[in-house]
Amino acid sequence: MFDAVVIGGGFYGAAIAIYLSQQREMKRVLLVERDRHLLSRASYTNQARVHNGYHYPRSFTTAYRSRINLPKFVQQWSYAVSKDFEKLYAIARRNSKVTARQFERFCREIGARIEVAPKSLHELFDNKLIEEVFLVEEYAFDTTRLAGWAERELDSSGVRTILGTKALGVSRDVGCGLAVELEHGNGLREVVRSRYVFNCAYAGLNQLAGDFHGTQMGLKHEITEMALMQVPSSLKNIGVTVMDGPFFSIMPFPARDLHTLSHVRYTPHFSWPDEPGVDPYDRLRDYLQETRVDRMVRDVQRYLPAVAQAQYVESLFEVKTVLVKNEGDDGRPILFEKHADIPGCFSILGGKIDNIFDVLEKLEIEEFASARGNS
Ligand SMILES: Cc1cc2nc3c(=O)[nH]c(=O)nc-3n(C[C@H](O)[C@H](O)[C@H](O)COP(=O)(O)OP(=O)(O)OC[C@H]3O[C@@H](n4cnc5c(N)ncnc54)[C@H](O)[C@@H]3O)c2cc1C
Repeated sequence: MFDAVVIGGGFYGAAIAIYLSQQREMKRVLLVERDRHLLSRASYTNQARVHNGYHYPRSFTTAYRSRINLPKFVQQWSYAVSKDFEKLYAIARRNSKVTARQFERFCREIGARIEVAPKSLHELFDNKLIEEVFLVEEYAFDTTRLAGWAERELDSSGVRTILGTKALGVSRDVGCGLAVELEHGNGLREVVRSRYVFNCAYAGLNQLAGDFHGTQMGLKHEITEMALMQVPSSLKNIGVTVMDGPFFSIMPFPARDLHTLSHVRYTPHFSWPDEPGVDPYDRLRDYLQETRVDRMVRDVQRYLPAVAQAQYVESLFEVKTVLVKNEGDDGRPILFEKHADIPGCFSILGGKIDNIFDVLEKLEIEEFASARGNS
């Protein structure tokens, strides 16, 4: 009998397993990951941005939470945070949902540092298309360093980690607690028993069978493409985001010492509403992953001509899962649900990396029966 089974070895599952073991004194914690490595899915394939609010002029709450969480993230994972680049937010003259003045006012309201970029950085852009360029404070994380942290801490906390094993379902157990059905890489099935289950399966959140009937909050999945680029020296120590509409970002990706290029119009290849039985990972596997980097570069170089000199390396494709309710405002709150019909089972989706602190805050006020039998 485990104290807790955590499903999904991404950043969230790993951080939660470590928290339960280290902070909540759970002695028998099992972490189950279907892939052969930890942090190999959305926690690897992302833009690596440690958000500081700038990205969310349409969602004050997300912007504000980012402002609170960035310093905590930087303090806790300083060795995984890269600060050695200039971060620019440029405002497009046409088709932007925000003007330069509105953006500046919004940044001041959330208390985020902003200043007009010096002429040398302005000159990177075509000013017929760009209204203003701001220098801001935003960082990038190295996901391989986060994975290294997770491996070390899981090991030293005594969390049992099984890779290459998929959780198939969660059910109420005949006695007390929960039963989790697992399928190992060799096809063998096993049922493990646990007092608590933390479902951190991200895109796979609602693909569990048994007594699990899914989250109340609706999810949407997108197949996304980020192109990895070797940028020319003029962009080497720079990250750029053009706001706020069908534009793009070019961000350092410290894990590969390259940049990711993503474009609001071309990065999402297609999307669909979450549906039990339609496994998003299978959809990604079966999708012919043809790159759209040519279209991205063609549009991006109009705003930032130096991108024409960037060398394409390869594309990273991944499922991105978001809450349906935030489609309009781009907000990224956490999903944290306790399943009343399966007591002890929680579903958690972070939305972005630094939201881990919002999840830990929620867990902190939960009363867990510990291995020692007290609460
Ligand atoms: C294209 C893209 C760009 C992004 N950009 C940013 C950004 O710049 N900044 C930011 O903060 N956030 C960003 N995000 C969001 C961020 O990546 C996610 O919020 C975060 O990685 C989620 O972590 P996770 O552990 O929940 O998910 P994951 O890392 O995907 O982990 C979930 C794990 O569960 C496993 N799993 C699924 N089903 C099962 C099962 N049945 N049994 C066992 N294991 C299972 C999966 O294999 C996976 O490893 C981006 C996401 C994407 C896709």
